[in-house]
Amino acid sequence: MSRGLVSIVGAGPGDPELITVKALKRIQSADVILYDRLVNDQLLAEAREGTLRIYCGKAPGLHAMTQEMIGRILAAHAAEGKQVVRLKGGDPFIFGRGGEEAIVLAQAGIPFEVIPGITSAVGTSASSFIPLTHRGVASSFACVTGTGSDGNVSSVRWDLLAHSVDTLVIYMGISQLPQIQQALLYHGKNGCTPAALIERGTTSQERIITGTLAELHSLALSQNVSNPALIMIGEAVRVREQVIQLQLAANTSLTG
Ligand code: SAH
Repeated sequence: MSRGLVSIVGAGPGDPELITVKALKRIQSADVILYDRLVNDQLLAEAREGTLRIYCGKAPGLHAMTQEMIGRILAAHAAEGKQVVRLKGGDPFIFGRGGEEAIVLAQAGIPFEVIPGITSAVGTSASSFIPLTHRGVASSFACVTGTGSDGNVSSVRWDLLAHSVDTLVIYMGISQLPQIQQALLYHGKNGCTPAALIERGTTSQERIITGTLAELHSLALSQNVSNPALIMIGEAVRVREQVIQLQLAANTSLTG
């Protein structure tokens, strides 16, 4: 029997076209696909008819399937010589628990590979016209989680992040928004710093809401922002307004 292979694959941020050629090829030739909640259905439709599709999605706070169970299923199918795809939203190694699965597979002696994906910070940066770096404005960015593994506000160093990073991108931050906003303000970040909330970025349901750090929580409430959403904080958020205004002006002068 030929040896199976597990491919831990990044599905990209939401737009089904934002997937790598290699990832798409693995989906098309898979015997088994284990996929998460954030994976676009159109990508699953790329699989062959006989492909076994197993949902192991996790809604925030709920675990449909434990990591241990996922590891066991991956290992069992690979041991049968199957081509197994573990499909994850964005990039598997950015808040995707891909590393944990790689460790389990390595321990079990199962051949595996990791295929990167466009992480939601990068996908939504492009779709919202908010560059993560911008000459003279932002020369660094950080991607952090807003929620810790205990479900409370993450214990990242908000004191350092408030000052040492130009563009701050916060994953899994919506439910902790009041605490995050408070922590950054408490540690001296200017409340007027431009900020954005990006919901379902790169999909047809994308919403981009901009304001300031001090307004973030009330904006999220009044606009009813829900997951999946990212928080972006930094002067580079202004580039979006600049681009949109310039586009508007150019269009007006063309049609006027
Ligand atoms: N591995 C994924 C992240 C998984 S953690 C990646 O690389 O993108 C889940 C969090 O990612 C969500 O709570 C949200 O903050 C963010 N996220 C994922 N897809 C998103 C999207 N299309 N728009 C906005 N945020 C998204």
